Formats: sequence, structure tokens, C-alpha cells
Amino acid sequence: MAQIGLNVPLPVVIDLVPTDYLSAAFAVDSSQEIMHLGLTRFEQTTDGRVFGPIQIAVLHGLPSTMFRRTLAHEYGHALLAGAPAATQIPLHVVEGFAEALAETYLVELGGNDAVGRWQRSRLGRGGHPTYDQGFQLISPIVRSHGARHVAAALRRGPGGLSAIGL
Ligand SMILES: [Zn+2]
Repeated sequence: MAQIGLNVPLPVVIDLVPTDYLSAAFAVDSSQEIMHLGLTRFEQTTDGRVFGPIQIAVLHGLPSTMFRRTLAHEYGHALLAGAPAATQIPLHVVEGFAEALAETYLVELGGNDAVGRWQRSRLGRGGHPTYDQGFQLISPIVRSHGARHVAAALRRGPGGLSAIGL
């Protein structure tokens, strides 16, 4: 991610976790009909400042491409962590950015195989209103503006969306 100009300015801890860990964390949101492979958590002070490390939890035992794809998605959330304005952006924009970042990362890693698998995994998941429609919206913007520019715009919240044509 640093290679494409994206740095999280806070310590990040990556944990490999069992299924139970993720299903417990997402039990509050069982309406999402998708498989959760990762999670990003951080604590904030009452005035919104992030303290302590940002935790990225990824399901253990994933095949390497899925691991990388999941980690890149969660990295997208870590990039927005602590930007108070970012919490005011529609969820499909945030998740679409995370998905577009995962795509960018796989493309950066190179290999048509990884990209092909990425595209097949998208088709296999159908059209989730948050993840897939968000991805379809944000992916072309990330490709034309660059992930760094889009991340900066999203950190500015709704006021930054016009900078990326939203
Ligand atoms: Zn996400």
C-alpha cells in the first residue's frame, strides 16, 4: 500500500482470527448477506481522536489472494479511521472504496490470474447493494483519480465528495 502512496498514520496490528471471532463481531449486523472475512476496529476518544493501534482482523487460513484482497479492503477502513467527517459518508461509498482498494492492490501485485480471480469473485457474489454497487460506483473513480486522492477526499467527508465527482 505504501507503494501506491497510501499510509495509515497510526500503528496497525493485524490479527489472524477464527470464524467465531468474526461472526461474533458481526452478529449485530446479521442483515448483511455476505461472508465476513475481515474486520477493522479502533478506539476513539469522545472528541474522535483514535488511540491505540488500529486492529485489522482477517480470517485465518485464507488462500493468499483472498487474504491479500481482504487485507487491502480492511486497509481502506484503516485509512479512514479517525477522520470524523468520514463517518458521515454513505456506507456504500465507504465499502465501495474498500473494495476498489482491494482491486487496485491485486492489480498492483500483477498477474492476470489474480485480477481474473478478483473479477470472478465479484460475479459470484451477485449485486450486494452496499459492497457491489458501491464498488461499481467507486472503482472507476479510483482508477481515474488514484486511490490516494480518493482516500483524501473521503477523509474530508461529504464536503470532499465533489472533488471525486460524487
Ligand atoms: Zn468493509
